[in-house]
Amino acid sequence: MNEVKKPRKPMMFYYAMALLAIVLFNSLVAPLLFSPRVTEVDYSEFMSMTQDKKIAEVMVQNNQIIFKDSAGNLYNTGLMDDPQLTQRLYASGAKFSSQIVKEMSPILSLLISWILPLVLMIGLGQYFSKKLVEKAGGGAGSMMFGMGKSNAKVYVKSTTGIKFDDVAGEDEAKDILREIVDFLHNPKKYEEIGAKMPKGALLVGPPGTGKTLLAKAVAGEADVPFFSISGSEFVEMFVGMGAAKVRDLFKQANEKAPCIVFIDEVDAIGGKRDGRIGGNDEREQTLNQLLTEMDGFDGSKGVVILAATNRPESLDPALLRPGRFDRRVPVELPDLQGREAILKVHAKNVQTQDNIDYAAVARAAAGASGAELANIVNEAALRAVRDGRRKVTQADMEESVEVIIAGYQKKNRVMSDKEKMVVAYHEIGHALVAARQSESAPVHKITIIPRTSGALGYTMQVDEKEHFLLTKEELENKIATFTGGRAAEALIFGQITTGAANDIEQATRLARAMITRYGMSDEFGMVAMEQLANQYLGGDTTLACAAETANRIDEVVRKLIATQYDKAYNILLENKQQLHALAKYLYENETITGEEFMDILHQTTPQIAAAQAQ
Ligand code: ADP
Ligand code: ZN
Repeated sequence: MNEVKKPRKPMMFYYAMALLAIVLFNSLVAPLLFSPRVTEVDYSEFMSMTQDKKIAEVMVQNNQIIFKDSAGNLYNTGLMDDPQLTQRLYASGAKFSSQIVKEMSPILSLLISWILPLVLMIGLGQYFSKKLVEKAGGGAGSMMFGMGKSNAKVYVKSTTGIKFDDVAGEDEAKDILREIVDFLHNPKKYEEIGAKMPKGALLVGPPGTGKTLLAKAVAGEADVPFFSISGSEFVEMFVGMGAAKVRDLFKQANEKAPCIVFIDEVDAIGGKRDGRIGGNDEREQTLNQLLTEMDGFDGSKGVVILAATNRPESLDPALLRPGRFDRRVPVELPDLQGREAILKVHAKNVQTQDNIDYAAVARAAAGASGAELANIVNEAALRAVRDGRRKVTQADMEESVEVIIAGYQKKNRVMSDKEKMVVAYHEIGHALVAARQSESAPVHKITIIPRTSGALGYTMQVDEKEHFLLTKEELENKIATFTGGRAAEALIFGQITTGAANDIEQATRLARAMITRYGMSDEFGMVAMEQLANQYLGGDTTLACAAETANRIDEVVRKLIATQYDKAYNILLENKQQLHALAKYLYENETITGEEFMDILHQTTPQIAAAQAQ
């Protein structure tokens, strides 16, 4: 999916190669193949063979005599001025004639050895390039011969028949996509109120998580045609061809509206334009055409463009602007429940024993994508067949997990149990410190499935209220919460990891701002020592103080964070029992919601549990 395609050689190159092949064939190979072996002999030898009646057949042709002996061997010799030849041949009883082998007329021979192959070759070339274009959905194949317009078809299925039910898990993604389905069902509703539907949505997630499947399900649910093309198919052969394909794709989509257009691997065309001179012109042209088309078409007609990528960071920002792919749909690796659901969806299509423990299989397949889980089920079915059984057993499932997992463990995507444990404690560390400081649900959801972003764990925080003003205490609490992950690692494992890098960055930024911009330190008071360079671009700051002061600031920042770290550590120490219980739950389930978090927290806190029991 992500390998960089080598630029293709132009078609002309192949034609030139083929031409060369024909030349070589005609001049070197053909004579060997098609002419029988002929032994050259002297005229005297020919005469004596005639006399001995050894000759069966004689042909005179082009100033030479070709003759066959009774065994069928061929000879030739030069034609001499020999008036008695006919007579002697007649006497020898040989069959003879002049010019038996008719020489091909020069025109015919030219036709057969040169023109026919050329025509054939061009014809085949045309056919294949057309096929290619048909598959890809563009029309430039014929353009190479200057024959004008593209007439290629895009791969269309009128309806895919796939529904959201066929996609297990991925509830967040489905929720976002449901609105698009509703729009396709009932565009009037949106039009009347003046609402514009997004023209495009970007499905973002690792390979095999069901992005294509989701796009098909949108088409299936809305009962509209589904156009599918891969980004890499746009970038082909000739400069300008990709752009032509894009134009063609949108033309067809407009004719078939309402419909879904799905562009897989959109990063192949939509990668960042690097602005280098002599950059990839072809790709840039294609991308520009895509942008133009997306801006140009009338969203109310019901053409919805879905695109998929597993490298969102490499996309050209122009693609993500409003009116283009302005909606982002995360399609992440499934958690434990998701994996179980996916296994069940695919197990529906195979004969299984009744007592399969899917939860156990899902647990064993930690880190597997939807595609890999589908594979696991299939592999299990194959195993059953191999053993001559009629039903898939638990053992089949477990065996095939091993087979498939061995494959992707190499890809280094799966965390070891130990790592998973560390991440679970780390994430709960954050959450528990937060909860103990504010006495409310600190998180919406925590998952410890590795994310596309590279983060190992993921904590979704929601503030109950949107804050515009934060107190000094709240900021300090936030810093304590950032340090909570590292504190948990240190407390439980007596070891620290690289997992806290991002926390440290954020804690540092916040602490610095408190001191240099918010006037929240005793030492410096209300003196601005840093200025925001540009509020809208990244929030870079510039230092506005003496070098000596800068040193002091660093020291105060360090102290502030250290104090908050100690606070976090102590909170966790006091709540060690809760930390264990929560981390265990997260480790086993890979996901914990805010509600579950609070439940477990209360159950494991003696005073509260006692109060609740009354
Ligand atoms: P992507 O486009 O994200 O690379 P696909 O949609 O092509 O992944 O998924 C490949 C296959 O894996 C699907 O055809 C389906 O069989 C299986 N699959 C992936 N995700 C899911 C899921 N969430 N539910 C059910 N099957 C899935
Ligand atoms: Zn962290």
